[in-house]
Amino acid sequence: MFQAADWKSLFMIKKYNEDQIIQGIFSGDVNILSRAITLVESRKKEDRVSAGKIVQACLEKSGRSLRIGITGPPGAGKSTLIDALGMYALGQGKKAAVLSIDPSSSRNHGSILGDKTRMQRLFRNENAYIRPSPSSGMSGGVGPATREAVILCESCGFNFIMIETVGVGQGESAVRSLADFFLLVQIPGAGDELQGIKRGVLELADAVVINKADGDNLQRAQNARSIYKNAIMLTQTKEWGWQVPVEICSAQNEVGIDRVWRILKDYQKASESCGFLSRQRKEQSKYWFYEVINRFIQENFWSNTDVHRILSAKEKTVLSGKASPLQAAEDAISELKKL
Ligand code: GDP
Repeated sequence: MFQAADWKSLFMIKKYNEDQIIQGIFSGDVNILSRAITLVESRKKEDRVSAGKIVQACLEKSGRSLRIGITGPPGAGKSTLIDALGMYALGQGKKAAVLSIDPSSSRNHGSILGDKTRMQRLFRNENAYIRPSPSSGMSGGVGPATREAVILCESCGFNFIMIETVGVGQGESAVRSLADFFLLVQIPGAGDELQGIKRGVLELADAVVINKADGDNLQRAQNARSIYKNAIMLTQTKEWGWQVPVEICSAQNEVGIDRVWRILKDYQKASESCGFLSRQRKEQSKYWFYEVINRFIQENFWSNTDVHRILSAKEKTVLSGKASPLQAAEDAISELKKL
């Protein structure tokens, strides 16, 4: 069922108007959902107008899901875990959506076939929806469009959203700003667990899962858990009292998935009851508001020919030693202000 839906959205022939798209999303039509996400990813002006109307209409039906960001190095087993966790969620009566993002363009970008082989069971299930990464031409991979895609998925009835990104140093903080809960997936190493990961990424995590805790790896995974637990105890106290758990699991053998699920439920309950969840979502909305403004300012600033003219003239005065960088910058700013 899913295959047909996605191929149709890729080669969409039928034209829908905005109201039809909105109604289609509300009725749970994943073909139309795919179409709408393509619109929010588009940078064409006319598409932006339509996308804006659709997202606006969807806002009131959104927000009723748990949004999970998942990161970890390539090969850690994120897709296998997403498949297992997603299936577990379906078993609990949820509808699961996966938005995968790959800012490094290291993987099979935007390839439906690529994601199909990675999350096979979810792909075949009608209560699951998988949206591959935007094409590599999209700016930065993670952006306001991903946030809008989350809103559309929620309005389409998906109430368990997983946003996957490859942990290569980019994208994590943007995904953190989209998700209620941020899960870091690691694999057992040979005692040098923490060397490969940036401190900043560990600090973003709401839980760490050591995957591939099976066979010969089980003991190593248990050791890794202790190392992570110690590192987290030293550095990490969430201001609202959440103790960041470290779990082991085998996504492949589906061992420990119930423990990961329990962590998510505990987090949801605790963060909802103390008001943190809604506070965090408000902060995130504010973040994306200013993020869009900043992107707008930057794009317009750097593509302005007058700005270029003024800056390159001032740059020359710096290079020739006629003005100090500070002086030249101040002169440039006063000229820019007159534009
Ligand atoms: P991703 O790049 O993080 O999405 O990783 P994948 O989910 O594609 O998994 C990478 C490889 O690790 C695949 O060959 C999986 O079969 C394997 N793998 C994933 N989870 C486990 C696990 O729990 N145990 C073992 N032994 N292998 C796993």
